[in-house]
Amino acid sequence: MKLYEFEAKELLREFGVAVPRSKLVSSVDEVFSVAKEFGSCVVKAQVLAGGRGKAGAVKPALTPEKTVEIAEKLLKKEVLGETVEKLLLEEKINILNELYVAVTVDTFQRNPLILIGLKGGIDVEAFASEVFKLSLESWSENKHSSKKIEEFVEMLFQKTLIDRRVAMEEFKKTLLSMWELALKYDCELVEINPLALSEKGLVALDAKILVDDNALFRQTKIRKQAQKRAREILEAEAEKAGFSFVLLQGDIGVIGNGAGLVMGTLDLVKDMGGNPACFVDIGGGASPDQVKKALEFVSRISRLKVILVNVFGGITRCDEIAEGIVEWLQELKSQEKPILPLVCRLTGTKEKEGQKILKKAGIEVETNTEKAVIKATKLSKKEM
Ligand code: GDP
Ligand code: MN
Repeated sequence: MKLYEFEAKELLREFGVAVPRSKLVSSVDEVFSVAKEFGSCVVKAQVLAGGRGKAGAVKPALTPEKTVEIAEKLLKKEVLGETVEKLLLEEKINILNELYVAVTVDTFQRNPLILIGLKGGIDVEAFASEVFKLSLESWSENKHSSKKIEEFVEMLFQKTLIDRRVAMEEFKKTLLSMWELALKYDCELVEINPLALSEKGLVALDAKILVDDNALFRQTKIRKQAQKRAREILEAEAEKAGFSFVLLQGDIGVIGNGAGLVMGTLDLVKDMGGNPACFVDIGGGASPDQVKKALEFVSRISRLKVILVNVFGGITRCDEIAEGIVEWLQELKSQEKPILPLVCRLTGTKEKEGQKILKKAGIEVETNTEKAVIKATKLSKKEM
């Protein structure tokens, strides 16, 4: 799992690596006061893709007004294929020189590998030949590895390969902290690029951390971050698609029209001993397409066991709801995707038509909410 820059920097800070003063924001309203406090800022779009600098998503701003202007251009916009939900505002650092440092895995030798590049920054790939490598023997905390790292750094300084203005002890400490971090969080990569030399010493201006997915079972903190992230992505996408969505803990996906009806259904599910997986309100007058989208959406919840659609037709027409459901089922069939049990309760405007459409597609329709909830709950308890 790849961490966002702000997450990676939090970990680095925890291990004593210097990072610029910063503030994470998710709306333009928050920008001005932060920018005023920092003076000149660097505005950084928080996306997982690399190469943000070259894509114009890392921008310095000398005044608070300029910072706001840049934030407006980046926030909620698409950058390198991702929507920017958050910006990291950082105090601008004056760079004397940029270095590259990383702790990674040598996949051929199956060893930890330390990389030190004399020229960091956005063109690091062009200087691959100026990178020094140190292989370590094992992924465990031992004096031997730390000693090897220290000796390696000493050797580079003795040969005056590293900028003379860099303090050797500080450089050593940075690498040792990164090594410790990599061990503690089961990282495949801990990279700082650039590790900038400033008037105040070394500062990590950018950081990239990859945590081994196979280790997430024992990395509670990272796993929680991953879950939170998945939830935020789902909720943001639902908003874009035009329905309200809240992810819950259970396994019954509840979809309905109108917040009151959906909440009532959630309560009933709980009363009957079931556990809702989500709250989805498709709103009044939903089109077949929107129903289909909501169903697709809910199906993405991995622990889902059954979907419960509860619609009371007013301005919403039951025949249109039914059409949406059938379209979704047909699409799943044509793609040979597994189909989850579906329970539908449909009453109100055009209910006869709607029920007919669903029956034709082989779906039984309930007219009573309680019955539908009991059925869905039973299905959710079945072993699959
Ligand atoms: P990337 O392109 O996604 O790797 O984004 P980075 O965070 O590395 O930013 C790109 C470049 O912006 C860096 O290589 C730096 O040269 C520059 N940069 C980033 N933060 C600062 C800062 O605080 N001060 C200055 N002067 N430059 C910065
Ligand atoms: Mn970078």
